[in-house]
Amino acid sequence: MRAVDAEGLRRANLIDATPIGANVRSTVATYSGVLDDLRRIFSQTTDAKTYGLKAGDFSYNTGSLRCPTCDGTGQISLDVQFLPDVGIPCPDCAGSRYAPLAWNVKRHTLRTSTGEKGDYVSLPELMAMTVDQALSRLQRLKKVAAKLQILHTLGLGYLTLGEATPALSGGEAQRLKLASEIGRRQDDVLFVFDEPTIGLHPLDVEVLIGVLQDLVENGATVVVIEHDLDMIANADWVIDMGPGGGEEGGRIVCAGVPEDVAACPESVTGRYLAEEL
Ligand SMILES: [Zn+2]
Repeated sequence: MRAVDAEGLRRANLIDATPIGANVRSTVATYSGVLDDLRRIFSQTTDAKTYGLKAGDFSYNTGSLRCPTCDGTGQISLDVQFLPDVGIPCPDCAGSRYAPLAWNVKRHTLRTSTGEKGDYVSLPELMAMTVDQALSRLQRLKKVAAKLQILHTLGLGYLTLGEATPALSGGEAQRLKLASEIGRRQDDVLFVFDEPTIGLHPLDVEVLIGVLQDLVENGATVVVIEHDLDMIANADWVIDMGPGGGEEGGRIVCAGVPEDVAACPESVTGRYLAEEL
């Protein structure tokens, strides 16, 4: 086990389940950085040159291709008398955030994995696709594909690129925050996770454990507050807090490798952990 050595740490990163922003302009595509890459890629198409469009024009926040009705938010607020305003999908762009011209700028895609012939897609069409759908279309675009692959690995392949991040569940938000940390050296970083397995399917828990293992292999120190036995069984070091919950807890019952905790007669967690091991 690697001791937590505060001297070597330069950054502590709390990855919790609080929502990502309250801003409806933040989407999976902007938060993951995929949209920045796509804007550049689309600005290089023949169509973009025909219309005189630059990368900045493809931003739904500030670009000329944003829907003028909703100003790129995808929503308009309905003024209901005597009631608070109600947000509804923008009738002009159907929530896509883009003006009609954006659909006319298309890029050829190739599915290298299947050898299938590609087709043409526009940026708004991509934004309506799930991460997994976009990944199969954009295999050839290495930088974008790498970012989408990380989202897929984190179990977020079913989210659409245009999904507003404030609407994500706590577990989804937590994993999306993690996406930007994957694939980097993490020697001087401490990560603290607050119950990352909440709401996850057991198969996704395995995926998450693999992701945390990757962080450790990249040099990070990972502290996880967790009840999930699979997660606990995979830890290098376990600190069992208890003996009960809430006011009954707060003391260290035992600490050690998972086998030590499983063998500890005072530990309730240990009893269940023994079965898991
Ligand atoms: Zn609109």
